[in-house]
Amino acid sequence: MSEQISSTTAFPANLNGVFDRVRQSPTIGEIFESEELSRSLVEAARWPQGPECPSCKSVGAACKLTTRPGLWTCKACRRCQYSATSGTPLHGTRVTIAAWLVLFHAFEVRKQRLSVSQVSHKLNVSYLTAKSMLQRLDQLKTEMPEMADRLRSQLIDLSGRREGVMPAMARMGSVVTGA
Ligand SMILES: [Zn+2]
Repeated sequence: MSEQISSTTAFPANLNGVFDRVRQSPTIGEIFESEELSRSLVEAARWPQGPECPSCKSVGAACKLTTRPGLWTCKACRRCQYSATSGTPLHGTRVTIAAWLVLFHAFEVRKQRLSVSQVSHKLNVSYLTAKSMLQRLDQLKTEMPEMADRLRSQLIDLSGRREGVMPAMARMGSVVTGA
């Protein structure tokens, strides 16, 4: 295997770093515009304890590959490469993770009930792709409810902070900027 493994990007330090940036981000729109930040949200929702090898189930043995964004390898079994969407209904499409988050946010946070045509227009994807995305979104909620719940919580948290409607955070004394 000729993949380059970066030893400085081992989980979870790297993800936490990205998360700090997410928390400082002034608008949720900026997260949706960044594939890197969007991916970090999905990684945290999929693996709250850090990346888990789909082959040997090791946690804490993940190394980030430098060859492709979002790709991990396993130091324990040294066999597999995987991403946060591997084994999920979100895998195997050409849609960006940011586009998935926009769709998830619209349906699960804002409770919008968009038609296939509206999704197609909103995400600038074909009608068939939009239809497939809606089916996969339902699949995700059915097959991986915990991941969907965590993703929903993260987005609600981020959206709320944006709009200054996070009473729980205010009570905890968290810093909420006036932006
Ligand atoms: Zn493994």
